[in-house]
Amino acid sequence: MKKFFIYFFAFIFICFILPALLTKRNIETSSNVQAENLNATSEAQNNEEKYNYKNYGIIKLLHHETGEVEEVELDTYLCNVVSAEMPADFEIEALKAQAVVARTYTVYKIQNKKHENADICDDSNCCQAWVSKEDRLARWDENLRESNWKKIEECVNTTKGKIITYENKPINAFFHANSGGTTELPVNVWGGGSNLPYLQVVETAGEEGYTQYSSEVILTQEELLEKLKTKYEDIQINFENSEDLKILEYTDSNRVKTIKFGNHELSGVETRTLLGLRSANFEITKQDDKIKFTVKGYGHGVGMSQTGADTMAKQGSNYEEIIKHFYVGVEIKEINSL
Ligand SMILES: [Zn+2]
Repeated sequence: MKKFFIYFFAFIFICFILPALLTKRNIETSSNVQAENLNATSEAQNNEEKYNYKNYGIIKLLHHETGEVEEVELDTYLCNVVSAEMPADFEIEALKAQAVVARTYTVYKIQNKKHENADICDDSNCCQAWVSKEDRLARWDENLRESNWKKIEECVNTTKGKIITYENKPINAFFHANSGGTTELPVNVWGGGSNLPYLQVVETAGEEGYTQYSSEVILTQEELLEKLKTKYEDIQINFENSEDLKILEYTDSNRVKTIKFGNHELSGVETRTLLGLRSANFEITKQDDKIKFTVKGYGHGVGMSQTGADTMAKQGSNYEEIIKHFYVGVEIKEINSL
C-alpha cells in the first residue's frame, strides 16, 4: 500500500507538477525576454527619435521662487511648459502648435538673455510658465493623469526640432488665451518700436465658445475712482456728464485705444491693468450708480490665441496651418538648419 502511494505521487509529480513548473519557468523566461526586447525596441526608438539640438540640447532653467538653476533637456522642459500653458484636453494639433511656440520662445530667450545665470525662468509674468510633472499630475483627475501626460509628450516629440522663423531667425512667439475674435498689434500693447512684421491683426472664428471669451466687471462710482486713484490721485469724474466717461478711440482690432475718465485720458491697456479687466477689448455701460465693463477675450491679444488654435484644430487645421495663421509670413524650420 505504501509503495502504491509512492508510485501514485511520483506519477502525479511527473505528469502534472513538473510540467507545470517547467511551463512557469518558460513563461517567466519568455516574458523577461519579451520585456528586454520591448526595452531594446523602445531604446532603439528613443535613440532614433532623439533630436540632436546641438547648442540647445540642455537649457538652464531658473526656478524663480527658490533661485535654483536647473539644467534640463529642452524637450523634457517643453512638456512641463506645454502642460502649464494649455489645457491638456485641447486638440492635439493645438497642443502641437503650443509645443512649437514654446520651443521657439525658449530658443529666442536663449539668444536674447534676460537672466544672468540662466536661459529662462519659470515665472509666467517674466518668461514662460512651467510646472513640475509631479504637481501637474496631482492637479489632474487620477484616471486622466497617464493619458494626459502621454498626449503632451506626443505633441512635443512629434514636433521635435521644429521652431518658427522669420527671415531665418526664431520669432518672438507671443501668445495669449483668447483674442476675442481678433488679435492685436504689439505697438498697441507695449508702445512704439515694438512692432514685428509677423505680428499682425488676424481674425479667428469660433472663440466665443470658450469661457475665456466674455467676462464683465461691475464697479460702483466710488470703486472705479478708488482704482483709478492708485495711479491718478487727482482724478475727477462727473458721472452725470456722458462726455466724462467715454471711449475716444479704438485700435484696428477693435480694442480700446483711448478712454476718457474725467480730467484724464488713459490707454485701453492701462485701464485693463488698473481695473483688472481680462483684456482691452471692452465696452462701458452705466447701470444706475454702477459702471459695467463688458469684456471680450483674455490676455494682451498679440500672436497666437490658444483657444483660437483649438478652434482651428477642431475645424481640421494642422499645427503648421495654425501657426501660419497667427504669425504672418513665417516658416517652420528645423532648428539645426538655421
Ligand atoms: Zn524670466
